[in-house]
Amino acid sequence: MKDEVNLKGLTYNTRLLYAVIPSSMYAKKDKTIDALIKAMVDDLNKLYHEGFEVRMEGASVRMRPVWIGTKGDWPWMRKLYKLKSGFQAQCHRKCHLCDGADWWDMAPSSHLRNLPLGYHNPSPYWPNFRSPMFDLPGGQDAFRIRTDPTHTYHIGYGKDENASILVLLAQLGHFGGKGSLDAKLERAFERFAIYCKSTRKHTSITFFSKKQFKIQQKGSFPCGGGKGHDTAVLGAWLETELTSVSADSFESPWREIVQVMKYMNRASCFFWRLLYTSGMFLSKESAQSAITAGWDMVEGYAVCSSLTAAQGLRLFKCRPKLHMMGHITLILQHELLRGAEPMNPACWMCWGDEDFIGRISRTSRHQHSRTSPLRTLQVSLMAYKRHWNTCFTD
Ligand SMILES: [Zn+2]
Repeated sequence: MKDEVNLKGLTYNTRLLYAVIPSSMYAKKDKTIDALIKAMVDDLNKLYHEGFEVRMEGASVRMRPVWIGTKGDWPWMRKLYKLKSGFQAQCHRKCHLCDGADWWDMAPSSHLRNLPLGYHNPSPYWPNFRSPMFDLPGGQDAFRIRTDPTHTYHIGYGKDENASILVLLAQLGHFGGKGSLDAKLERAFERFAIYCKSTRKHTSITFFSKKQFKIQQKGSFPCGGGKGHDTAVLGAWLETELTSVSADSFESPWREIVQVMKYMNRASCFFWRLLYTSGMFLSKESAQSAITAGWDMVEGYAVCSSLTAAQGLRLFKCRPKLHMMGHITLILQHELLRGAEPMNPACWMCWGDEDFIGRISRTSRHQHSRTSPLRTLQVSLMAYKRHWNTCFTD
C-alpha cells in the first residue's frame, strides 16, 4: 500500500459519515451536539474494547480502532472541548497547549521554543463543564486536540504573510514604480495570472487591490486574498518573484526587511512542499528539515512584523495562530526527541474533511426537508457502495 496522507483521492474512500442532522433540528444549549458526541464516544469505546471482525485472505481478523486525536476548525474545537482558550483580544489564555506566555515571541530563547519534552500546563478546560470526549481513553489529554495546519496557516496567518509581502513589494516598486498602490497591485496581478497559466495552477483570485487585501481603511493590516488553496499558490508565486529581488539594491532598513522576507518565504514554501510530498510518517531526516524550516518561518514572520512596525508600517499582523504554528513544529521536535518517526502534520489538515462535508451537504439540499436526514444517509450509503466497489475490489 502506498504511504500517503489521506488528502488525495475521493473523500468517500477516506472518511466515514456518522450522522446527518439539519441545524434547524438542534435543541437549545448544545443538547443535540452533546448527545451525538456522547453516542459516538460510546461507539468508539466499544470498538476499542471489543473490536470488530473482518475477513482477510480467508481468515477472520479482529480489528481494534484506537482514537489518536481530534481535528476541526478552532470554533468547533472550543465548543467540543469547552476550552478556556481563544484568540480574541479579551481572552487571557490564547493556547490550549501552554500558558501562552509571550505568545508572539518566536526567537530561539522564547518560552514556546524552550518548553521541555513532556511539559505540563494548567488545564485548558472550563472547570464546570465536562466534554463527552473526556470518556475516551486519553480523552482529557490536551495534546490530542490537534492543531490543524489549514486553519492555522492557509486560512490563518499565511494569508497575512502573502498579502504583506505583496503590498510591501508593490510599495518598494518591484512591479513598477509609478501610480497608486492599486495600480501597482494591478500590474502585480498581471504577473501572477501569467505565472498561474504557465504553471497550470488554479486560483480563485481574480484581481489584487487594496479592497481585496482589506487595507482601504487607514491603519488596517493587509489580509486575505482568495481561499485556503490560494495561499499555497500565492506563496509559490511570491517565491519566484522574491528570487529576482536583490536585497542589496535597497538602502537600510529595507535591505534587512527584504532579506528576512525572502528567508521567511523560502522556509514556508519548503516546509509545506516537504509535508505535501511526504507520507503519513516523516523520516528522521525529513522531520529535522521540517523542524528547521518550521522555526525559520515563524521566527522570520515575527521579525518581519517587528522590523516593519519600527518603520511605522502596519504589515505582518501578529496573531495567535502564529503561536499555534510554532506548536506544530514543537510537537515534531518533541516526537523526534522521543526517538520516533513523527506523524506528518499534514494528517491533521482539514482540506479533505471540508470537501467531504461539502458533498454530504449538497446531497442533503436535494432532499425534502422532512425526510432529509434519512434520505441523505441512504444516498450516501449508495455512494459509498459505488466508490468502494470501484476502488477496493480487484
Ligand atoms: Zn502554546
